[in-house]
Amino acid sequence: MIVALAGGVGGSKLVLGLARVLPPGDLTVIVNTGDDEDFYGLRVCPDLDTVLYTLGSLVDPEQGWGLAEERFDTLEMLQRYGAATWFRLGNKDLATHLLRSLWLREGLRLTEVTGRFAAALGVATRILPMADAPVATRLMIAADDGAGERELAFQEYFVQRRWRDRVVAVRFAGIEQTAISREALEAIAAAKAIIFCPSNPVVSIEPILSVPGMRQAIRSARCPRVALSPIIGGEAVSGPAARLMADLGREPTAVGVARLYADVLSHFILDTRDAAQRPAVEKLGLQAGVLNTLMSSQEEKETLARALLRRIGVER
Ligand code: GDP
Ligand code: CA
Repeated sequence: MIVALAGGVGGSKLVLGLARVLPPGDLTVIVNTGDDEDFYGLRVCPDLDTVLYTLGSLVDPEQGWGLAEERFDTLEMLQRYGAATWFRLGNKDLATHLLRSLWLREGLRLTEVTGRFAAALGVATRILPMADAPVATRLMIAADDGAGERELAFQEYFVQRRWRDRVVAVRFAGIEQTAISREALEAIAAAKAIIFCPSNPVVSIEPILSVPGMRQAIRSARCPRVALSPIIGGEAVSGPAARLMADLGREPTAVGVARLYADVLSHFILDTRDAAQRPAVEKLGLQAGVLNTLMSSQEEKETLARALLRRIGVER
């Protein structure tokens, strides 16, 4: 059994590669839920759905999130009523949120709801939310034009304001009330390797590691624990990862990423473009490997997954 930690779009790329090269059912993904939010009374879990739709071969290939061949009639009607529509929810996508909200109201845990979706979509990979209880990532942004500092909900920062704000602090509201699930604990204990996908370190990986019990469980797993950097050549492949790290006073480089998780890792993979950072990574007490980590095509996802497993000594 291999365990991967992932956010949404970036994480799903490697998760898909791993799912394709490993025997069916040998992969468990623990997914960030800090981005989750309610829209129109429906529970929306963007990262879980990105992983689910990707593995179910339903994802919109252009965006890397949402469903392919989607329509937005419902959203357009909501707009006619004057409702906010900056968060894009497609007609088909809404079915997921309707059913999830119903099942959660009926008392199912988010882990169980996600398991039902995966089974129905024929996904053999186990998809686990990082926690069953809700967590809300919140970002304190710098004062602008005399207005004081204020806190944004994650989707407000990321989607509505397109991550233009300077962030001074990040917190994961509700995290202390969560606990690592039995399913996640069992997967980690049985893992032959734990892979930190090249997801956003601040808002995808950090919330997962902040679930009470998670860091400890990973640290005490007796298997290779390897992370890949979402930052290549000092820039994020996409999104605000590098900006967020710089805003928060962390070095926005691969080594900077390695430093964030060095306490729970045994290995760290650098991109070929960052090979010069190898000694700095080794100084953190980690085994460093250098691979091409840019995944543009399906083939590159599988090639990276294979090379990564080989590098950490996992036989397939
Ligand atoms: P999100 O939740 O949709 O933002 O997705 P994640 O947190 O899982 O991943 C976002 C991160 O993935 C960004 O910081 C990107 O820099 C990174 N990323 C995207 N594609 C690639 C890739 O092909 N290679 C690497 N190394 N990182 C990538
Ligand atoms: Ca996300």
